[in-house]
Amino acid sequence: MLSFFPPCYEDELLYSVLARFHQRSGNSSFKSTLIDLFDTDTILAVTDFTSGLDTLCRKTNMLYNAKELIENHSLLPYYRPFLTKEINEKVSNLLCTYNSTGVHISMGIIQTNVSLPQYLKFCVSCYEEDETTFGEAYWHRSHQLPGVYLCPFHCEILNNSYIPFKKQEHNQHYYALSNIDLKSCEPCGPVDYIEKQRGIFKKISEYSLNLLESKVAPLGLRRLREVYVSYLAERGFITSSGRVRFKKFSASFKGFYGEEILGFLQCNFTEYQEDTWLHKVLRKPRISCNPLRHLLLLLYFNQDTKVYTNFGCEKNKYKPFQSVTYPCLNKAADHYMERVVKELKISRDSETGKPVGTFICNCGFIYSRKGPDNSLEDEFRIGRIKNFGHIWERKLLELSNKGLSRREISAELGVDYNTVKKYLHILENIEQEKLDDSAIKEFNSSSIQEKYRTEWLNHMKLNLNQTRTEIRKRKPSVYMWLYRHDKDWLYKNLPPAINKVGPNNRVNWQRRDLEIVKLIEREVDNILAIDPPERVTISKIGQRTQKSALLEKKMERLPKTKKVLEEVVESIEEFQIRRIRNIASKKREAREEVKEWEIIREAGLRPEYIGLMSETIQNEIKFDLY
Ligand SMILES: [Zn+2]
Ligand SMILES: [Zn+2]
Repeated sequence: MLSFFPPCYEDELLYSVLARFHQRSGNSSFKSTLIDLFDTDTILAVTDFTSGLDTLCRKTNMLYNAKELIENHSLLPYYRPFLTKEINEKVSNLLCTYNSTGVHISMGIIQTNVSLPQYLKFCVSCYEEDETTFGEAYWHRSHQLPGVYLCPFHCEILNNSYIPFKKQEHNQHYYALSNIDLKSCEPCGPVDYIEKQRGIFKKISEYSLNLLESKVAPLGLRRLREVYVSYLAERGFITSSGRVRFKKFSASFKGFYGEEILGFLQCNFTEYQEDTWLHKVLRKPRISCNPLRHLLLLLYFNQDTKVYTNFGCEKNKYKPFQSVTYPCLNKAADHYMERVVKELKISRDSETGKPVGTFICNCGFIYSRKGPDNSLEDEFRIGRIKNFGHIWERKLLELSNKGLSRREISAELGVDYNTVKKYLHILENIEQEKLDDSAIKEFNSSSIQEKYRTEWLNHMKLNLNQTRTEIRKRKPSVYMWLYRHDKDWLYKNLPPAINKVGPNNRVNWQRRDLEIVKLIEREVDNILAIDPPERVTISKIGQRTQKSALLEKKMERLPKTKKVLEEVVESIEEFQIRRIRNIASKKREAREEVKEWEIIREAGLRPEYIGLMSETIQNEIKFDLY
């Protein structure tokens, strides 16, 4: 057990703590210090990854545990987000045993594709502040990272000490910062250049410190790529098939930083080459890439390390749709396939429990699909269109007015024939109503005489088979006005006067037949409009037209009535079909999904009809998929 162990300061490198231990121990040799700390004198003094932590912690009487030392005093948290889970675990385990070499081998490429700093670095202001606060200066771990030339706390250019950062053969020396001769230290890089690029260097220092402090778990190379790809997509660097437009992107990336600083940071690449580090991060990534390069990507995307920390926190949260923006899949919109959709609502499919994303674009186009998205290609898939929106509708009318066939329109707008037919019907009706409205307005401004004449003529058209008296009774005010002001015209536009009929012919069956047909048609319309639906039967029609007796007893004298009744009366099956369609169309209007069991329940289908109706139900569900 150690008789004392110095406190570990904030942002202090473990190497620095051990150096201060040696300083205070009074040991004349480093070997004695190593034996004190690790029970062995064969290990080396390592700046970035001190191993043997299990023994060290035991010897401090568990004043610290290995996890704390790794998190707060090693450089592992800086690399960790970009390591694979396996390597992170392996490195953490190796740090507990005596195996710094194993750690460096495991970190391998991630540490070597950007070379490590040459010397331990320090900030003069930190030095002074730490002396005031703690009575001694110490090596900060945030100063020792690749690409870090400015102190993240003071934004001052760091100084190189003459203590090598990299592990030296047989080096067992621990140097405390307070023992360094400050006069022989120099700025860690070309001052003018660092000043010129201060903005970028400042960000790198800040982001690097964030990584050290954020304790993000390994993010997974594939998921990291997905995050970057979603930012690339926002900037138009992804094709609709999900490929990265590397030429365009690498040119833009290089333009953003400039050749010089990329070279300075060892992150340059040759444009048009196929295996640059950008390719390694953004294609199917298999090997870890230096954190500095990830930070350059973040900075380019105008993001900060929150991307990683938020990502890390939500790691275990199920996120079926991961992008920030989604393509609008409205073929009628100018921005078709562009990532302009920002509004996403996630619900659950009540039957399968799968997530359903509803994507809402400003152009009014709304589509949904079942998740989770498993690839970028999935982001271009429509499960169901929930709303077409005004742009789509306008385009539909435009194409129709151009004379395109419905088939051609359906190809152009990416929907099926029936949808085109249905929407054209609806839209053309609306257009017609608008025209009618404006016609009425015009009409109002014309003369009163015109108005009454037109009204009278329309009235006549609607009541072809009525007598003068009947027709007069129905429009008394119009009749009176015309009688007073426009008599000649009125007489020319009355039904022909009918001769008085003899008593035997008092009932004109032909006319009555026609009258009843009209009545029936009107009442059937009314019955069909009832909600919830009621079945159209002879007795219901009889009741509503008050012609029950005639319909029951005089059918042989009313051939037209008979024919109409045969057409309009519903069998039970026909009625069930109508109910099913009614329920399904209501659901569609309410933008709900049409489900078989719900239809069966809501239509109150008796078991013997379910089989019979299943085709109708399936058709409605299929209809629903458009
Ligand atoms: Zn500082
Ligand atoms: Zn849109």
